[in-house]
Amino acid sequence: MAASPSVRLHHHQPSSWRRSPTPTSNLQFLAARCRWRRLPGAAAARPLRLRATGAAPPPFGSNDSLPGAIEVEEREDQHPPPPQRLKIAVVGFGNYGQFLTRTLVAQGHTVLAHSRSDYSAAAAGLGARFFPDPHDLCECHPDVVLLATSILSAESVVRSLPLHRLRRDTLFADVLSVKEFPKNLLLGALPEEFDIICTHPMFGPESAGNGWAGLPFVFDEVRVGDCPARRARADAFLKIFESEGCRMVEMSCAEHDAHAAGTQFLTHTVGRMLAMLDLRSTPINTKGYESLLRLVDNTCSDSFDLYNGLFMYNKNSTELLNRLEWGMDAVKKKLFDGLHDVLRKQLFDFEVSPEDPAELVVAGGDPDTDEDGEDDGDAVDGDESGSEGNN
Ligand code: NAP
Repeated sequence: MAASPSVRLHHHQPSSWRRSPTPTSNLQFLAARCRWRRLPGAAAARPLRLRATGAAPPPFGSNDSLPGAIEVEEREDQHPPPPQRLKIAVVGFGNYGQFLTRTLVAQGHTVLAHSRSDYSAAAAGLGARFFPDPHDLCECHPDVVLLATSILSAESVVRSLPLHRLRRDTLFADVLSVKEFPKNLLLGALPEEFDIICTHPMFGPESAGNGWAGLPFVFDEVRVGDCPARRARADAFLKIFESEGCRMVEMSCAEHDAHAAGTQFLTHTVGRMLAMLDLRSTPINTKGYESLLRLVDNTCSDSFDLYNGLFMYNKNSTELLNRLEWGMDAVKKKLFDGLHDVLRKQLFDFEVSPEDPAELVVAGGDPDTDEDGEDDGDAVDGDESGSEGNN
């Protein structure tokens, strides 16, 4: 998707709306490959009815059905087809890879996991299968390889995968918190037949404790092959988030990074700055202070690698840091300017109408004499510098 100067935020359309070209031509194209299924024991008397379906029930990996294929249904009132089950290889099985796996498994997808560390037990506990060797992982021919490794290690991890062992048109997706970097990395490293969807679920284990409903899911379909099976696989992948109730936001990677510096990186930076102050709960916490404490918790529970990645791999982050510094300086300046005004008033206001000659000494000092009683040349002259005091 080409970058656009304007922000294009819109809800992800239901996948059937975006399918091309027209239902008729789709039908004709697919008719050549249609597969007839008859349910065992179906009543012969019932008339069969043809219907083009958007999704085929068996897993993609089985190769025995084509997404979008025409199926023969026994009855008009039959249940809608179950959602497509995908075989998903989660590469990077740390905090976030495991967080995603919980939902993937709950939705009925098959999860294969791979990571630098051995997470065999954690994977088994989540209903996934762990592969220490990436060759074994790729030989399982996952439909989707989901990159959930740290931003900093993404390049070396992608380059270490034996891509030649994958199916020729595998879908690669990532969940890195920056987007232009993985887009360019995947475009450069993957064969042209591979599909690429760059995503950023804008939530994590801390912020999505009550489910994903209403939380933003940013995605950019960087490359999805123009064929129904690949289109359907991409839709099935996006459906994972759509069906959890995520707010689907289709946006270019460049737009994401511009927004994310001013939102996510800002949030993390403020959280980490506040963490340096070692804030404690007190008996008189205000609501605002409570939210600061929560901010520290939420941001510092992520790894420093993650935060560092937001800085290193988003070109907009440096400017955000500069603006943050400018903002702090501007606020301080306003405070100190006000303070100086008060002090100057105290120091020099008597010059207009000194009521008590003693004030002359206390507030302004002896115009001609220092504390040590000696005259010095740059002491304020009450008579001549009256206007300076109000500057
Ligand atoms: P992270 O610190 O960003 O990444 C940890 C993962 O990276 C682990 O799987 C770890 O593998 C792997 N890793 C780190 N260094 C590596 C290296 N040198 N070689 C190979 N693998 C390495 O923490 P995270 O929270 O799990 O995030 C994972 C990804 O999800 C990141 O790209 C992050 O931006 C994205 N994300 C996170 C959140 C969130 O809320 N946490 C939200 C949205 C997106 P081992 O554990 O095997 O060492």
